Amino acid sequence: MKNLRGQCRHCGGRFDFRGDLIGSTSPCPHCGQDTEMMLETPKIESGVPKRLLAVSLLAIVILGVGLAASMLALKRARSMVRKANSSSDVTAKPQGPVKTSVIAFVIQTNDFYLSAAALQKPAGAPLPLATGVLSNGLSRPRLGVQVSFDVLNAAGQKVGTTMDSAARLEPLGSWQFQAPLLQTNAASVRFAGIREEKQP
Ligand SMILES: [Zn+2]
Repeated sequence: MKNLRGQCRHCGGRFDFRGDLIGSTSPCPHCGQDTEMMLETPKIESGVPKRLLAVSLLAIVILGVGLAASMLALKRARSMVRKANSSSDVTAKPQGPVKTSVIAFVIQTNDFYLSAAALQKPAGAPLPLATGVLSNGLSRPRLGVQVSFDVLNAAGQKVGTTMDSAARLEPLGSWQFQAPLLQTNAASVRFAGIREEKQP
């Protein structure tokens, strides 16, 4: 029978024990107190749960795909406008500045993880949006979650604020927020804060 590496739950001392004794109780060779023959617990490498990290990465990938899709839709819409223009005399009004700029930042606060954000104007949307993914780092739901941003112009000056809210964020769940940008000179956003309803 193979020997296994265990750890005392009282003093943390390590010892080897026979594999067939797993789950039984014996005195610890270091401190003498009775301890269960259990495998030593692996060290947790960071405060961020692995599953949440995976979810966040997935969310970033999804966001990236979403951006690519909306840019593709935009390209298609533009070429349709060009075709329409070439076949008729209708003068196309120049559309507002429709740019997609990724303002990737990762913010960890109060067990929320803000994974990424971007400014984009999806085809058909009335206003440009600040989008991103907010993840709940807790294994309980979060209610009345509100994420807010300062809206900045090209010179980096604050020209307004914007926010989006979710009634409920599932345990370890992620939410893709979309905060509308009412300011025509919006060039970027800066994280301003996350609020949530107090739990009863
Ligand atoms: Zn011990």
